[in-house]
Amino acid sequence: MASQQTLILIKPDAAKRRLTGLVIDRLDAAGLTLAGAKMVSVSEKLAKEHYKEHEGKHFYADLVRYIRGEHHAIPDQRVLALVYEGEDAIALARKVAGATNPEKADPSTLRGSFGRVTTTGQIENLLHASDSPASAEREINLWFSPSEIIRPVAK
Ligand code: ADP
Ligand code: MG
Repeated sequence: MASQQTLILIKPDAAKRRLTGLVIDRLDAAGLTLAGAKMVSVSEKLAKEHYKEHEGKHFYADLVRYIRGEHHAIPDQRVLALVYEGEDAIALARKVAGATNPEKADPSTLRGSFGRVTTTGQIENLLHASDSPASAEREINLWFSPSEIIRPVAK
Protein backbone atom coordinates (compact mmCIF):
# COMPACT_ATOMS: atom_id res chain seq x y z
CA MET A 1 0.00 0.00 0.00
CA ALA A 2 1.46 3.34 -1.07
CA SER A 3 1.40 6.53 0.95
CA GLN A 4 -1.91 8.37 0.78
CA GLN A 5 -3.23 11.74 1.87
CA THR A 6 -6.63 12.22 3.52
CA LEU A 7 -8.73 15.17 4.65
CA ILE A 8 -9.68 15.54 8.30
CA LEU A 9 -12.03 18.22 9.61
CA ILE A 10 -12.32 18.84 13.33
CA LYS A 11 -16.08 19.31 13.63
CA PRO A 12 -17.65 22.04 15.79
CA ASP A 13 -18.70 19.65 18.61
CA ALA A 14 -15.04 18.67 19.10
CA ALA A 15 -13.96 22.31 18.97
CA LYS A 16 -16.60 23.40 21.46
CA ARG A 17 -15.74 20.61 23.90
CA ARG A 18 -12.03 21.35 23.63
CA LEU A 19 -11.24 17.98 22.06
CA THR A 20 -9.18 19.32 19.13
CA GLY A 21 -5.87 18.33 20.71
CA LEU A 22 -7.16 14.89 21.59
CA VAL A 23 -8.23 14.21 18.00
CA ILE A 24 -4.82 15.33 16.74
CA ASP A 25 -3.10 13.20 19.38
CA ARG A 26 -4.99 10.04 18.34
CA LEU A 27 -4.19 10.60 14.65
CA ASP A 28 -0.57 11.27 15.58
CA ALA A 29 -0.40 8.12 17.74
CA ALA A 30 -1.76 6.08 14.82
CA GLY A 31 1.35 7.03 12.88
CA LEU A 32 -0.17 9.61 10.55
CA THR A 33 1.84 12.68 9.58
CA LEU A 34 0.46 16.20 9.10
CA ALA A 35 0.87 17.61 5.61
CA GLY A 36 -1.45 20.62 5.86
CA ALA A 37 -3.40 22.58 8.47
CA LYS A 38 -5.53 25.71 8.50
CA MET A 39 -8.56 27.37 10.08
CA VAL A 40 -11.34 27.83 7.56
CA SER A 41 -14.44 30.00 7.85
CA VAL A 42 -16.88 27.56 6.23
CA SER A 43 -19.20 29.25 3.75
CA GLU A 44 -22.56 27.69 2.97
CA LYS A 45 -21.23 26.99 -0.53
CA LEU A 46 -18.20 25.09 0.80
CA ALA A 47 -20.29 23.11 3.29
CA LYS A 48 -22.79 22.11 0.60
CA GLU A 49 -20.06 21.18 -1.84
CA HIS A 50 -18.19 19.15 0.76
CA TYR A 51 -21.31 17.15 1.65
CA LYS A 52 -22.85 17.08 -1.83
CA GLU A 53 -23.05 13.26 -1.85
CA HIS A 54 -25.67 13.61 0.92
CA GLU A 55 -27.83 16.17 -0.88
CA GLY A 56 -31.48 15.14 -0.69
CA LYS A 57 -31.07 13.07 2.49
CA HIS A 58 -33.18 14.00 5.50
CA PHE A 59 -30.16 15.14 7.51
CA TYR A 60 -28.48 17.21 4.78
CA ALA A 61 -29.67 20.69 5.80
CA ASP A 62 -28.79 20.02 9.43
CA LEU A 63 -25.41 18.63 8.42
CA VAL A 64 -24.59 21.85 6.56
CA ARG A 65 -25.57 23.82 9.68
CA TYR A 66 -23.53 21.45 11.89
CA ILE A 67 -20.26 21.78 9.95
CA ARG A 68 -20.74 25.59 9.92
CA GLY A 69 -20.89 25.61 13.72
CA GLU A 70 -24.52 26.67 13.97
CA HIS A 71 -25.39 23.92 16.46
CA HIS A 72 -22.51 24.80 18.75
CA ALA A 73 -22.43 28.59 18.59
CA ILE A 74 -18.98 28.57 16.97
CA PRO A 75 -18.18 32.14 15.93
CA ASP A 76 -17.36 32.83 12.27
CA GLN A 77 -18.05 29.24 11.13
CA ARG A 78 -14.47 28.28 11.93
CA VAL A 79 -13.29 24.72 11.44
CA LEU A 80 -9.78 23.27 11.57
CA ALA A 81 -8.99 21.48 8.30
CA LEU A 82 -6.07 19.04 8.23
CA VAL A 83 -4.35 16.90 5.63
CA TYR A 84 -2.70 13.76 6.97
CA GLU A 85 -0.50 11.38 5.08
CA GLY A 86 0.90 7.91 5.60
CA GLU A 87 0.63 4.30 4.56
CA ASP A 88 -3.05 3.48 4.05
CA ALA A 89 -3.86 6.88 5.61
CA ILE A 90 -7.49 6.96 4.45
CA ALA A 91 -8.52 3.68 6.12
CA LEU A 92 -6.30 4.33 9.12
CA ALA A 93 -7.90 7.71 9.86
CA ARG A 94 -11.38 6.15 9.49
CA LYS A 95 -10.37 3.44 11.95
CA VAL A 96 -9.19 6.02 14.49
CA ALA A 97 -12.45 7.95 13.98
CA GLY A 98 -14.78 4.95 14.34
CA ALA A 99 -18.23 4.33 12.91
CA THR A 100 -20.37 7.26 11.80
CA ASN A 101 -22.97 6.72 14.53
CA PRO A 102 -21.21 7.12 17.91
CA GLU A 103 -23.65 4.66 19.50
CA LYS A 104 -22.38 1.99 17.11
CA ALA A 105 -18.72 3.03 17.16
CA ASP A 106 -16.21 0.91 19.02
CA PRO A 107 -15.51 2.51 22.42
CA SER A 108 -11.79 2.59 21.65
CA THR A 109 -12.38 5.05 18.79
CA LEU A 110 -12.76 8.82 18.97
CA ARG A 111 -16.42 8.70 18.03
CA GLY A 112 -17.09 5.76 20.33
CA SER A 113 -15.49 7.54 23.27
CA PHE A 114 -16.58 11.12 22.73
CA GLY A 115 -19.35 11.27 20.11
CA ARG A 116 -23.06 11.33 20.87
CA VAL A 117 -26.50 11.38 19.31
CA THR A 118 -28.49 14.33 20.61
CA THR A 119 -32.09 14.11 21.80
CA THR A 120 -33.12 15.69 18.50
CA GLY A 121 -31.34 12.92 16.55
CA GLN A 122 -28.35 14.98 15.45
CA ILE A 123 -25.16 12.92 15.21
CA GLU A 124 -22.18 14.63 16.84
CA ASN A 125 -19.10 12.66 15.84
CA LEU A 126 -16.09 14.96 16.25
CA LEU A 127 -14.40 14.67 12.90
CA HIS A 128 -14.73 14.18 9.20
CA ALA A 129 -12.37 11.74 7.50
CA SER A 130 -12.33 11.06 3.74
CA ASP A 131 -13.73 7.64 2.83
CA SER A 132 -11.87 6.72 -0.39
CA PRO A 133 -8.96 7.85 -2.57
CA ALA A 134 -11.38 9.65 -4.92
CA SER A 135 -13.11 11.47 -2.01
CA ALA A 136 -9.77 12.34 -0.43
CA GLU A 137 -8.52 13.93 -3.64
CA ARG A 138 -11.75 15.83 -4.22
CA GLU A 139 -11.98 17.03 -0.62
CA ILE A 140 -8.31 18.03 -0.26
CA ASN A 141 -8.63 20.10 -3.45
CA LEU A 142 -11.84 21.65 -2.15
CA TRP A 143 -10.39 22.77 1.20
CA PHE A 144 -6.76 23.48 0.29
CA SER A 145 -4.85 25.10 -2.53
CA PRO A 146 -1.81 23.12 -3.73
CA SER A 147 0.69 25.51 -2.14
CA GLU A 148 -0.84 24.90 1.31
CA ILE A 149 -0.03 21.19 1.33
CA ILE A 150 3.29 19.45 1.58
CA ARG A 151 3.36 16.83 -1.17
CA PRO A 152 5.48 13.73 -0.61
CA VAL A 153 8.76 14.10 -2.47
CA ALA A 154 9.42 11.14 -4.78
CA LYS A 155 12.51 9.27 -3.63
P1 ADP B 1 -18.86 9.65 7.77
O1 ADP B 1 -18.66 11.02 8.40
O2 ADP B 1 -18.56 8.54 8.76
O3 ADP B 1 -18.12 9.49 6.47
P2 ADP B 1 -21.31 9.83 6.19
O4 ADP B 1 -20.45 10.27 5.05
O5 ADP B 1 -22.26 8.71 5.97
O6 ADP B 1 -20.42 9.49 7.48
O7 ADP B 1 -22.18 11.06 6.70
C1 ADP B 1 -21.59 12.34 6.81
C2 ADP B 1 -22.02 12.97 8.11
O8 ADP B 1 -23.44 13.16 8.07
C3 ADP B 1 -21.80 12.12 9.34
O9 ADP B 1 -20.49 12.19 9.87
C4 ADP B 1 -22.81 12.71 10.30
O10 ADP B 1 -22.34 13.95 10.83
C5 ADP B 1 -23.98 13.00 9.37
N1 ADP B 1 -24.94 11.89 9.31
C6 ADP B 1 -24.80 10.72 8.63
N2 ADP B 1 -25.88 9.93 8.78
C7 ADP B 1 -26.73 10.62 9.58
C8 ADP B 1 -28.03 10.34 10.12
N3 ADP B 1 -28.67 9.21 9.84
N4 ADP B 1 -28.60 11.29 10.90
C9 ADP B 1 -27.96 12.44 11.19
N5 ADP B 1 -26.75 12.77 10.71
C10 ADP B 1 -26.13 11.88 9.91
MG1 MG C 1 -18.41 10.40 4.66
